[in-house]
Amino acid sequence: MMCSLWRGFSLPLTSSLNRRFLKCCRQLSRSYNIASCIPEAVAFQGVSDHSGLYKFSVDESDRFWGAVARQRLSWISPFHTVQNCDFSQGKIKWFEGGKLNVSVNCLDRHVHTCPERVALIWERDEPGTEVKITYRQLLELTCRLGNLLKRQGVRRGDCVTIYMPPCPLAVASMLACARIGAAHNVVFAGFSSEALADRIRDAQSSTVITVNQGVRGGKVVDLKRTVDQAVQNCPSVQQVLVAMRTENTVAMTDRDVPLEEEMMKEDVVCEPVAMDSEDVLFLLYTSGSTGKPKGLVHTQAGYLLYTALTHRYVFNYHDGDVFGCVADIGWITGHSYIVYGPLCNGGTTVLFESTPVYPNPGRYWEMVERLGINQFYGAPTAIRLLLKYGDEWVQNYNRSSLKTLGSVGEPINTEAWEWYHRVVGDGRCPVVDTWWQTETGGICIAPRPSDPEAEIVPAMAMRPFYGIKPALLDTEGEVLSSNDSTGALCISQAWPGMARTIHNHHQRFTETYFQPYPGYFFTGDGAYRSKEGYYQIVGRLDDVINVSGHRLGTAELEDVVNQCPGVAESAAIGYSHDIKGEGVYVFVVLKKAVMVQEDVLAQQLREMVSRSIAKYACPDFIQVVRCLPKTRSGKIMRRVLRKVVERNTDELGDLSTLDDPDSVHEVIRGHQRLRGDGKQQ
Ligand code: AMP
Repeated sequence: MMCSLWRGFSLPLTSSLNRRFLKCCRQLSRSYNIASCIPEAVAFQGVSDHSGLYKFSVDESDRFWGAVARQRLSWISPFHTVQNCDFSQGKIKWFEGGKLNVSVNCLDRHVHTCPERVALIWERDEPGTEVKITYRQLLELTCRLGNLLKRQGVRRGDCVTIYMPPCPLAVASMLACARIGAAHNVVFAGFSSEALADRIRDAQSSTVITVNQGVRGGKVVDLKRTVDQAVQNCPSVQQVLVAMRTENTVAMTDRDVPLEEEMMKEDVVCEPVAMDSEDVLFLLYTSGSTGKPKGLVHTQAGYLLYTALTHRYVFNYHDGDVFGCVADIGWITGHSYIVYGPLCNGGTTVLFESTPVYPNPGRYWEMVERLGINQFYGAPTAIRLLLKYGDEWVQNYNRSSLKTLGSVGEPINTEAWEWYHRVVGDGRCPVVDTWWQTETGGICIAPRPSDPEAEIVPAMAMRPFYGIKPALLDTEGEVLSSNDSTGALCISQAWPGMARTIHNHHQRFTETYFQPYPGYFFTGDGAYRSKEGYYQIVGRLDDVINVSGHRLGTAELEDVVNQCPGVAESAAIGYSHDIKGEGVYVFVVLKKAVMVQEDVLAQQLREMVSRSIAKYACPDFIQVVRCLPKTRSGKIMRRVLRKVVERNTDELGDLSTLDDPDSVHEVIRGHQRLRGDGKQQ
């Protein structure tokens, strides 16, 4: 007999199980019923509320994740071991022995139950021209693309680079890779040809998928041309599949394959490959504090499960809801909460191609009304920008469909949080400030899930998700056990969504994440734990700047600046910026005898940075100095430079180790000259 008590879940009611089950139900009905929300909880003894379930998830991590993985993923063969992790070696393995296919979990199983449900709503740049794709259609697209990739020689274990704006073919490309056992490497379509080439080379891709042109904010961007430039320096690339986003033709070479034309020749059935839980699903490059961006590796089952579970419970997503994450698919937010989490849950997910101010600052809210969006997930940068335009742009539109508002990518300040809550959400939608990173795969700290009606404190990520056990450590590496303390944010046990390695650099992986605090995963962020035990992220502890939610390594930027003719050395520093969260301030030392006008130099540097990395990485201020403040051992005193750009020159701290104390005064005078005249470049 099957008893369908809870939406979407059926439990067998056989005799002994039956009795235990009914006893649990009676216990649960006395208080509120956590199992009505998380059906697996019924089997976890003594768990009756959120706090109990959280405790169980960290204390009995194997039982928790084992039950959830069995319940929520479709397996080709079951796993034999829930986890096999050892932080000291950077070894993270989940669900070993299990075989599954991610595209089957995201598509086929929903096609069986609800083929005509909308999977994707492609909100194109031109308002009012959205395109809806059902699960059946998305499966067809994915299969055709999978077959085309196979015809082009892509095999299990290869890595395909995808350089596309958010669009259904980009999602189908990701899922097609998953279907045939290839990994994908999505590169944000705002990155320059050099940055793209670096990533293609590091991933050793033989295939790149792109579009002829992108369209964003009414402007056409020649993406195929950027790919052409990139692949000139990528000997591994044998073919470039080109989809047509606009009607404009672009030059095609022998290497180029017209994507739509060729995929239409393919069959709509493509046999999914049985993948091991720990096979690679994708690489995603992100900036670190040193050197070149690193290709973080995520694998199949654990990542998929974690994104699905967080999507369901952080946002309180239910069947039939329309989930609107306005990130780009080129970032981890797009991977986890536009593609994998929502599709694994059989959800309807929006692909936003435009900008928050195109054609006007009402764009988001007009879209919310037109598409009936229930959960809106965006970045603080955009919220800060929109609040400056005033409330009318929001109030002109009906937002009654909204149930949850989410924030991601950078700290959200109280003013922006309150405006989001009061004006956008009319004071009735929970705002979830979600903390996580490319490395964590999915949301780790957020105000929800929690007991119903539990308080939400503005501008705080607050509560760890199921299975996440945060710890704060001091500079000595001691755990701060009391509340009301600030320290390095670490996570003390493994969870299924975490990255497994850095592509080709496992040692860098262990050194970066596991060696700073042995026994812990180090996030690179600092956090405060309040008296009540809630977490608030205070920012990066390393040399990573967060510009509009995009990570930028200072070393990466300095590498580019130092290549500019005439530049001897440089130091890039982040400073607080009204809209972007952090802006970039660069100090430059010129080679001896080089004379150049500062604005000419600034122009050259900006061009180089946007050519080598991306526009967002361009410095706001460039200050030429005679020398940088350094210690006697030659280390740049970034702490001092940070105080200068933050205008905290009263708190420069101990300068006794400075090699040339005058250099600081020169830096301060130059800074006053540059910013005193209010020029924001
Ligand atoms: P990324 O891997 O590019 O998504 O960047 C992750 C970094 O963004 C984190 O390490 C944090 O520094 C920052 N970040 C992400 N979400 C938040 C948040 N809710 N509050 C504060 N900082 C955040």
